[in-house]
Amino acid sequence: MTTAATRAPAGRDTDSGRPRVVIIGSGFGGLFAARALAKAPVDITLIGKTAHHLFQPLLYQVATGILSEGEIAPATREVLRHQKNATTVLGEVVDIDLAGRTVTSTVLGRTTVHPYDELIVAAGAGQSYFGNDQFAEFAPGMKSIDDALELRGRIFGAFELAELATDQAEIDRLLTFVVVGAGPTGVEMAGQIAELSRRTLRRDFRRIDPTTARVILLDAAPAVLPSFGEKLGERARRQLAEGGVEVQLGAMVTSVDANGIDVKDGDGQARRIEAATKIWAAGVQASDLGRILGEQSGAAVDRAGRISVQPDLTLPGHPVVHVVGDMMALDKLPGVAQVAIQGGRYAAKAITRRLAGKAPQAPFRYKDKGSMATISRFHAVVDLGGRLKFEGFIAWVMWLALHLLYIVGFRSRLTAALHWTVSFLGRGRSQRVATQQQVYGRLALEHLGPGWEASKTGGPKEAPPADEDVTGRESA
Ligand SMILES: Cc1cc2nc3c(=O)[nH]c(=O)nc-3n(C[C@H](O)[C@H](O)[C@H](O)COP(=O)(O)OP(=O)(O)OC[C@H]3O[C@@H](n4cnc5c(N)ncnc54)[C@H](O)[C@@H]3O)c2cc1C
Repeated sequence: MTTAATRAPAGRDTDSGRPRVVIIGSGFGGLFAARALAKAPVDITLIGKTAHHLFQPLLYQVATGILSEGEIAPATREVLRHQKNATTVLGEVVDIDLAGRTVTSTVLGRTTVHPYDELIVAAGAGQSYFGNDQFAEFAPGMKSIDDALELRGRIFGAFELAELATDQAEIDRLLTFVVVGAGPTGVEMAGQIAELSRRTLRRDFRRIDPTTARVILLDAAPAVLPSFGEKLGERARRQLAEGGVEVQLGAMVTSVDANGIDVKDGDGQARRIEAATKIWAAGVQASDLGRILGEQSGAAVDRAGRISVQPDLTLPGHPVVHVVGDMMALDKLPGVAQVAIQGGRYAAKAITRRLAGKAPQAPFRYKDKGSMATISRFHAVVDLGGRLKFEGFIAWVMWLALHLLYIVGFRSRLTAALHWTVSFLGRGRSQRVATQQQVYGRLALEHLGPGWEASKTGGPKEAPPADEDVTGRESA
């Protein structure tokens, strides 16, 4: 059902007369921008496609049964409940009119038009299959809670089905897990599946031996974690191998189906891996809102859908429109949480300064706080930029402390710490539940038509050039 568009006041007080700040997206960029405006004399409307703020770096722990979805995805409304100048609205933004200064959002056929005086666009990025969106059905990505829960169902379900199977080839296929993309997400995911099979599930089955599960991490690139440098990447590769992960580099994915994956190695040899569970952790595609903004402002949009912004994160000719996080292209900044957080805060400060009649800030400068990835229990790699690189237990403690700090909400921090204790000191995982809806949900959505397909993958519809590496690189 579609209703006529209603015009919404961008704030709870329709007559406040205060400037209306509309923020699109409740991820890192959007939420931190909203919080940075807590004391500003403005009315904020934060429009989110989901009603929660998602801590994406821990999605793999939801997929592998360590954390619950609520721990990494608090309700945005609850997070902002004490911030009186902020209103939260559920809806997918489908249009932005730069000339008319309005944003149009829709949810279940209810369309709302939000006028703005200042706009912050932080709609992030979705999974990209580099023109091979058909892979999504068999190799789900990991961008949302839905993705993580479905993967949880597929991973634990594969062990259950293997226990029932009688044919050895079938058991082997069910106990083979392929993770595509050796960036931080792929490394963390592969490491956790290996740990799941070798520690958590070790004694849980009677017919199969879960420790014989094959966990394959493959990438077309020649290195693991290339953004961490050669030394840390090599350490990570060795640690993964010790934990039971087969790392296959220089391997390009050419096809994915229900029963396996076809790859082409660096020497041109084609081969097939029979595997029931495939996970896509390679490549991102920025929100389609970048294209809409590009068409109206003339700003360039790159192949990954990111829109070029000015040094102050605004669009050319539109000083009140700020684009931050994974959607923006500036100085080859990576698609990581800190870029989004710092960008969101910078945009908020630009708005408060303008409203106070102060001179604009200096151009946005990203402070690189480093990057980290866990490989297994008690083992991580941390690159603090320059010469400060850590690995092993100390890096893992740093990872633990930082993630606890950034999980939103005291309650979530407390229960996450509890679940980590259960998983890392003990053998258990407290979140192994998977419902039929989670396992079959994606397939059911396929039947709803192409609109769902587009919002699920966010990937380009046109095929890439024939020589393009379809495993790509992950920007996180
Ligand atoms: C699995 C995974 C692991 C990661 N690990 C790390 C890590 O370890 N370290 C790190 O620094 N970074 C990591 N990242 C990257 C990091 O999460 C992103 O760089 C960061 O979330 C970008 O913030 P953002 O605000 O631009 O977008 P997001 O955080 O993605 O937020 C976008 C928001 O916009 C909403 N939205 C999208 N489209 C619309 C629309 N049309 N209308 C309304 N709302 C919309 C979304 O629902 C979401 O709330 C990881 C990412 C993933 C997927």
